[in-house]
Amino acid sequence: MGSILVSGGAGFVGSFLCEALLDRGEHVVCLDNLQTGSLGNILHLVPNERFLFSAQDVELPLSAFNDIEQIYNLACPASPVHYQNDPIRTLRTNVIGAINILELARRTGARVLQASTSEVYGDPEIHPQSEGYRGSVTSFGPRACYDEGKRAAETLFHDYCKMYDVDIRIARIFNTYGPNMAGSDGRVVSNFIMQALSGQPITIYGEGKQTRSFCYVTDLVEGLIRLMNAGPHMRQPCNLGNPTETTIRELAEHVIEATGSSSELQFLPLPQDDPIRRRPDISLAFKNLGWQPTTHLPEGLARTVEYFESHQQQRPRAMTQPSRGGPIVGRLFTDSLHVAAGEQQMRRLHPDSAQLRSNGRKPNGHAGKDADSDRIGFNSN
Ligand code: NAD
Ligand code: UDP
Repeated sequence: MGSILVSGGAGFVGSFLCEALLDRGEHVVCLDNLQTGSLGNILHLVPNERFLFSAQDVELPLSAFNDIEQIYNLACPASPVHYQNDPIRTLRTNVIGAINILELARRTGARVLQASTSEVYGDPEIHPQSEGYRGSVTSFGPRACYDEGKRAAETLFHDYCKMYDVDIRIARIFNTYGPNMAGSDGRVVSNFIMQALSGQPITIYGEGKQTRSFCYVTDLVEGLIRLMNAGPHMRQPCNLGNPTETTIRELAEHVIEATGSSSELQFLPLPQDDPIRRRPDISLAFKNLGWQPTTHLPEGLARTVEYFESHQQQRPRAMTQPSRGGPIVGRLFTDSLHVAAGEQQMRRLHPDSAQLRSNGRKPNGHAGKDADSDRIGFNSN
């Protein structure tokens, strides 16, 4: 039995995906450079002998991995604050990362799913957005590094399928929220909850009339797994998201209710190119995967608030100002330090890890240089 590789597995969605796959009895290799992810998200998975963590950048060749049956490519910061901080790095992650992942799939024969995004539709002129819509995207705006990077990745997936018969799946993911989002993530749900819990003003950009459609993370993960395991007719892009549309102002009111906060609303300028409306047409997923979200916003928000309440002391403040090229507060590790720092953090948070490693059976699918008997690998090659 081969392993399933989850790149970006220590991030918000990836950590839930790793857990869901382990719950299904799979062997899971989680690859992450911890740029926006956290070891705290996956610490509870480490004792599982079918789980292995490899600290590695997806921009580097993945030649150490063998015996992989499926790959979920989630490696990329998803928050506008983080992906705009170093736009060239974001493009590199999307393009070079996709090529490395696809080369790995080609070599191992693994099926590979790309975590694409509703951002490929840009600021859409049609509503709701179905997969046939080609989008309204600029190659010059602040979001372009992410939007165009994800579009290029879709093209690479399509062409690897065409030229090399790589078995691809492409999920166009719409706004997703839930526990394991970083407090400093900068996206709207984590910002509003962090602000509400600490009594800070809730920062609404623009008048809050713009809409998003928020999907709870476990619903999304179920959709990702169904899409991965669907037949070859699902090699086309497939929307995954919750079709219930909400204005950002309504979201703020939901968060105030869920937290019982007395925070006031603060209106700040709307960022450039912020999409005005977004709602997925999920008929393709419903028809072919029998999938639709089942978690309503108040229920998902209540679970997310509970998570932030119990983790608040460890979390930095909400991140509201997009910056360019400078350090990001709350980002775990810099490029040069992430491997050592990650190892240090793992040892600190999980002092038993040495024993876990020596007790651990060698998992399938990983031949990292330090990982023969380890389930925590820190690879820098
Ligand atoms: P996240 O930022 O929490 O997770 C991304 C993970 O990828 C992090 O753990 C990060 O450390 C890792 N990563 C980033 N660059 C990397 C690199 N070069 N090499 C290895 N690891 C790297 O974001 P998320 O919300 O969990 O999103 C996961 C994926 O889903 C992303 O690809 C994102 O574009 C896509 N997506 C998410 C949403 C959403 O609302 N959550 C919406 C659309 C698309
Ligand atoms: N937003 C906001 N306040 C915040 C963060 C975000 O009003 O503190 C708005 C943002 O302008 C956008 C929406 O919330 O219209 C969703 O933003 P997010 O960054 O979560 O994701 P996006 O869908 O824009 O990528």
